[in-house]
Amino acid sequence: MSEATERLEKYRSMRDFSVTAEPAGAETAPPRADGAPRFVVQRHRARRLHYDVRLEVRGVLVSWAVPKGPSLDPARKQLAVHVEDHPIEYFDFEGVIPKGEYGGGDVVVWDWGTWRLTKGDDAGAAIESGELHFDLTGEKLRGHFMLIRRDRDQSGKEQWLLFHKKDEFAQEGWDPEDHPRSVKTGRTNDEVAAAPTALWRSDRPASEASVALVEAAPPSWEAPASDELAALDDLKTAGTWVFQGRELRLTNLDKVLFPARNGGAPVTKRDLIRYHALVAPSMLPYLYDRPINSHRYPDGVDRPGFWHKEVPGHAPEWLRQWHNDEADPGETECYAVVDSPPALVWMANFGAL
Ligand code: MN
Repeated sequence: MSEATERLEKYRSMRDFSVTAEPAGAETAPPRADGAPRFVVQRHRARRLHYDVRLEVRGVLVSWAVPKGPSLDPARKQLAVHVEDHPIEYFDFEGVIPKGEYGGGDVVVWDWGTWRLTKGDDAGAAIESGELHFDLTGEKLRGHFMLIRRDRDQSGKEQWLLFHKKDEFAQEGWDPEDHPRSVKTGRTNDEVAAAPTALWRSDRPASEASVALVEAAPPSWEAPASDELAALDDLKTAGTWVFQGRELRLTNLDKVLFPARNGGAPVTKRDLIRYHALVAPSMLPYLYDRPINSHRYPDGVDRPGFWHKEVPGHAPEWLRQWHNDEADPGETECYAVVDSPPALVWMANFGAL
């Protein structure tokens, strides 16, 4: 068993690798230009916000969880709980750890760079001894730092102090929370949580734990054909319009919804329907996957409108609906989902402006 593998025993013991018995993590650090060991600080919103300070030592990431984060201010001596070594594959992980898994939450790469021991020449021995003097060359963190072991908590975890020494990089009052963005992508934890590009499956071996998430491209939609538009123009004030395979029962087609302005022609319901059919390919990417509330003006914009949430009973069967299973009594239960040009036309006929 290699030393790095041995050191990751703790990491593995806290996670379920039942999927496969492959050893998780290995001393296969990605190549780097200058040969200096790397460090990373990840801002991790799990049950509690903390910063994970990780130093590359002999093929693993030796790690401390720092609730208040590292600072350039020598006066800020921060609690740093020594936690289990992490596999090197975690070095540049940014994304989401599923809820319910160990460390569930979101992670950004808050800082990274290289580090160098400034006292002694054996990082492993210095950590064993509980006193680490080192320099960081990161994008946010620079200069001379110290990690000193102080105590153990009830669970046996080692409590250390992390602080910056006075040097030319020291900055009074420097607060990590004032610099929240990722050095990898420029994103905040909120932005990563809202649209993660990777998932860390801590129940898998490290080499397979990072799962890329690629957002599926939205579908695309067709504009109306010229004969379809001609058929719309040929309808009397009401009738059935066959549009992209759907039968739409249209009413009050010559009703003016927007009165004439600046010498122009008024906009009738027929005009509005034609317009919705034409802009559907551009609008649907924003609508197709979300339930909507419609703001209806059945008698035109000169008369008061009203919000209409519940899908009416006369809606066509093909209109997609979303049911709110958590609706309280009296609350709207079924919302329309406008996911096709005919659905958008149906909303126009319904007076949804
Ligand atoms: Mn963490």
